[in-house]
Amino acid sequence: MKQMPGRLVLLGRPVDHSLSPAIQNAALRAAAVPLTYEALDVTPVRLAATLQSLVGERAAGNVTVPHKEAAFRMCATLTEEARRVGAVNCFRVERGALAGHNTDTEGFSAAALELLRGNLPARIALIGAGGAARAVATVAELWSGCQLTVFNRSPQRAERFAQRFDTARIATSLEDALRASELVVNATPTGIHDDCFPTPIELLPRGAAVMDLAYRRGETPWVRAARAAGHPACDGLPMLLAQAAESFRYWLETEPDRAAMARAAA
Ligand code: NDP
Repeated sequence: MKQMPGRLVLLGRPVDHSLSPAIQNAALRAAAVPLTYEALDVTPVRLAATLQSLVGERAAGNVTVPHKEAAFRMCATLTEEARRVGAVNCFRVERGALAGHNTDTEGFSAAALELLRGNLPARIALIGAGGAARAVATVAELWSGCQLTVFNRSPQRAERFAQRFDTARIATSLEDALRASELVVNATPTGIHDDCFPTPIELLPRGAAVMDLAYRRGETPWVRAARAAGHPACDGLPMLLAQAAESFRYWLETEPDRAAMARAAA
């Protein structure tokens, strides 16, 4: 293990509902690392000062909603993943300065490949065009022969998304996005706090795998309904766990106990 960080933190607002402290503290205990992962509720105006003082403490950690894009702009160095996504959800201190990474890409890739049993999809339908969708598009660009089609509620955001990811196609309708897709990904918050579906189940192509990046206790209603209709499906928990494992490796340069992390999340 390289030199241990002085502190491990999660910066967000709100953070009190986050599963990350339970997941990371289970991994720290399993590895006998004498650190506690603390959630800090930070307002946007306090983010720069907080990060600056954390650099002085040689801290490392995660950044969540609403700070991922602001943190990206505050880093002195960035990994290729962070640069491609345009957001930082994981940081550490390198040579006295803030270094930013994005582990949502690894999280999505690992969870999607598990769902697809290792088979790369030829077509992905992506619902949503925000930060999580950018992580999906970054991975899709690396999967050779994969066509990504995006549908977003507001066309303006979809257009901006297509300018950033020029291999992505903007769908004219939800039906158009879903047609012939082998993997359908929800990257909107639909279904977290309500029983709404990002797509009607009957529009899903036969046999398509369904991945909701949103998660909640007992899975989202869309995932439950898709599975009941015969689709392989998972919610955002496998992605959350895989990004947490990649974050742990980035900070401590050692492999975490994934089973301990999964037990803590459950
Ligand atoms: P953003 O705010 O960056 O983007 C939200 C996107 O969802 C936008 O495209 C927005 O479209 C769309 N949207 C919002 N509300 C609705 C709605 N009611 N109906 C249709 N579209 C809607 O959020 P993120 O990209 O950061 O997060 C998206 C989801 O992914 C969240 O559920 C989040 O929890 C989850 N997530 C999960 C992770 C995991 O590890 N499992 C990691 C990161 C995110 P518009 O332009 O029209 O507003």
